[in-house]
Amino acid sequence: MPSLLEVDDIAVVFGGNRALDGVTLTAEAGRVTGLIGPNGAGKSTLFDVVSGLRRPVTGKVVLGGRDVTRAGPARRARHGLARTFQRLELFGRLSVRDNLLVAAELGPDRRHAHRVVAEIVERLGLEAVADVSADSVSTGTARLVEVARALAVRPTLLLLDEPAAGQDAAETERFAALLRSLADDGTAVLLVEHDMELVMNVCDTVHVLDLGRVISVGTPAEVRRDEAVLAAYLGQ
Ligand code: ADP
Ligand code: MG
Repeated sequence: MPSLLEVDDIAVVFGGNRALDGVTLTAEAGRVTGLIGPNGAGKSTLFDVVSGLRRPVTGKVVLGGRDVTRAGPARRARHGLARTFQRLELFGRLSVRDNLLVAAELGPDRRHAHRVVAEIVERLGLEAVADVSADSVSTGTARLVEVARALAVRPTLLLLDEPAAGQDAAETERFAALLRSLADDGTAVLLVEHDMELVMNVCDTVHVLDLGRVISVGTPAEVRRDEAVLAAYLGQ
């Protein structure tokens, strides 16, 4: 079966610097694919390329068998892509529930937006904060609300950029279980994360980026003992 997401030979240049250089990776339906690497490796830039916010100078992005390299973010969203940002991007004055409704009303189940949101609020355990303003919840909860908002469009491909940053240990443990259950539902999850324990616990495959290149691919256990990966992190 073809991969849900195929990223092939992507290059991105900022000024004279190659932020991404020949990056190829795939993400599969029903799997959590990890993307790790030191700060500045190019992880968020790759998410921008996959979600259509940045044009690569070379390479292509294929989503569900469709070449979307030239498609904008809205079209990719219609083809099932949703993402969160490393910097939180919630509507602070709106309630948590309304943040989710705004998203649900853009998704394929928009006619049942209230039901979709109610389901997600329950699944993510957000009942207690659903009706408070988004800017009044803790950082850990806000991260979860961002994921909830991405889920409200019923994505087939979910890109998460450091979703556990600011979560405490108990929140991260619940979050790990959520990621596994999303994969079990058939979602392809691409996870950028610094919390190595979370990566090791939930990822089926991990890609390691360093200085814009993929330096290692394998199971969490394989990449953890890869000399090139250890060297990249030590050099940080
Ligand atoms: P990561 O998410 O892995 O920490 P980024 O994708 O944010 O890395 O950044 C990769 C490289 O590209 C870094 O060297 C960063 O400074 C550079 N970079 C990122 N965004 C821009 C931009 N908008 N303009 C210029 N350089 C950028
Ligand atoms: Mg980043």
